[in-house]
Parts: sequence; C-alpha cells; structure tokens
Amino acid sequence: MTEATDVVLVGGGIMSATLGILLKELEPSWEITIVERLDDIAQESSNPWNNAGTGHSALCELNYAPLGSNGTVDPNAH
Ligand SMILES: Cc1cc2nc3c(=O)[nH]c(=O)nc-3n(C[C@H](O)[C@H](O)[C@H](O)COP(=O)(O)OP(=O)(O)OC[C@H]3O[C@@H](n4cnc5c(N)ncnc54)[C@H](O)[C@@H]3O)c2cc1C
Repeated sequence: MTEATDVVLVGGGIMSATLGILLKELEPSWEITIVERLDDIAQESSNPWNNAGTGHSALCELNYAPLGSNGTVDPNAH
C-alpha cells in the first residue's frame, strides 16, 4: 500500500518527536509520518531506563564533577 505524506521520520525516539514538533511549527499543513519498527515508541535510547537520565544541554556534564571552593570545576578531582 502506498500513502502520500510530506515527511517521513524513521524511528519513534526523541529525535523524531522533536523534529516532528519543529516541522509542525514551521509547516502546520504538512502531514508527518513516523515509522517505528518496534511495538511501541521510545523503547530504545529514549527510554529513561536505557539512558542516564541527566538531560544533556550546554554545560550540564559539569554536574558530574564537584564544584571547587574557587567556583571552578576540576574534572580530575575524582
Ligand atoms: C547508555 C546511554 C546513556 C545515555 N544517557 C543520556 C543522558 O543522561 N542524557 C541525555 O541527554 N542523553 C543520554 N543518552 C543519549 C540519548 O538517550 C540519545 O541520544 C537519544 O535518546 C537518541 O534519540 P533518538 O531518537 O536518536 O534514538 P532512539 O531513542 O534510539 O530512537 C530510535 C528509534 O528508531 C527505531 N528504528 C531503528 N531503526 C529503524 C528502522 N529501520 N525502521 C523503523 N524504526 C527504526 C528504533 O526502534 C528506535 O525506537 C544516553 C544514551 C545511552 C545509550
């Protein structure tokens, strides 16, 4: 069966979800199709049980190292 669509996003993880939302904001009329090989979405890396759950953004990795008394982070301090 062949169906017409404007965008096909392969994989039902966080990246397709994010890109799909962005595209809908830019082009609300576009029909977006997401295909997922598994029985449900977000079962691979985007499943919280399969990642560390810290949420990477900018300098958040500094959370892994203690803040020194002078306000800097020394990654060798562990
Ligand atoms: C061990 C680990 C720890 C992590 N910790 C963190 C963290 O603490 N903070 C953070 O921000 N990020 C973390 N990440 C990274 C983050 O989880 C991933 O970058 C993110 O979830 C990837 O999202 P994705 O949508 O690209 O991939 P996924 O969530 O893996 O989604 C891909 C989807 O595509 C499907 N798929 C694959 N091939 C096909 C196909 N041919 N047809 C249809 N569907 C297909 C899969 O079944 C899956 O559902 C971690 C990753 C790992 C592995």
